[in-house]
Amino acid sequence: MSISRYLDYLLNSGNYEKYMQKLVDAYNPSAVQNVMCRNTISIGWDGFLYDCDFNQMLELKINSSHKHVSNFNADELNKREIVIGQHCYGCTAGSGSSCGGAVT
Ligand code: SF4
Repeated sequence: MSISRYLDYLLNSGNYEKYMQKLVDAYNPSAVQNVMCRNTISIGWDGFLYDCDFNQMLELKINSSHKHVSNFNADELNKREIVIGQHCYGCTAGSGSSCGGAVT
């Protein structure tokens, strides 16, 4: 996943464009059905909510007026728009899965 230290490595080594192109080329629309942000949330130590642990690492809180577990609202969470970015290509490449995906 192209975040944090691995993103730093990709950028510093000049491999970022090549890596991202590989993920984009391996994009699998059917993998979108199974990305974890569609059926789980992550909760930070301070109670703030995130669409997934990757977004948590990037400090991208959920797109909702109910961003904290103290005002948890399942109906609002189910209607929210998931916060996405280039890192999401890591979840939709090949056979998908944000935890054990493969690009071949
Ligand atoms: S990285 Fe993107 S696609 Fe993957 S689980 Fe998180 S929000 Fe969903």
